[in-house]
Amino acid sequence: MKKYVCSLCRWEYDPAVGDPDSGIAPGTAFEDIPEDWVCPVCGASKADFEAEEGEAEKAESDMAMWQCQVGNCGYIYRPDKGDRKGKIPAGTSFEDLPDDWHCPVCGASKKMFKKLA
Ligand SMILES: [Zn+2]
Ligand SMILES: [Zn+2]
Repeated sequence: MKKYVCSLCRWEYDPAVGDPDSGIAPGTAFEDIPEDWVCPVCGASKADFEAEEGEAEKAESDMAMWQCQVGNCGYIYRPDKGDRKGKIPAGTSFEDLPDDWHCPVCGASKKMFKKLA
């Protein structure tokens, strides 16, 4: 279930917590809240809430590039390209690579890679 944030005061509605003070039980999806419910902090209406974009941010950080630290190899794994030689499709984050994946240049294991800032 998605979290929603009040666009006026930034109060966050977490479906797992609900809003017990207003009679909204934990586990109630934002969509299932009565239309006359208002933000418990500032009184804004449901229409003033927006879905939190936390998941999009996470997807972005998963697409970080990783570099092989062996000697002068310096191979960089790019999630948007994948690794054709290792049969890794484009869009695979480094974290999702199989543990037996190896650097396609020098054969080093995943442990030898460092995340590029
Ligand atoms: Zn509010
Ligand atoms: Zn390497």
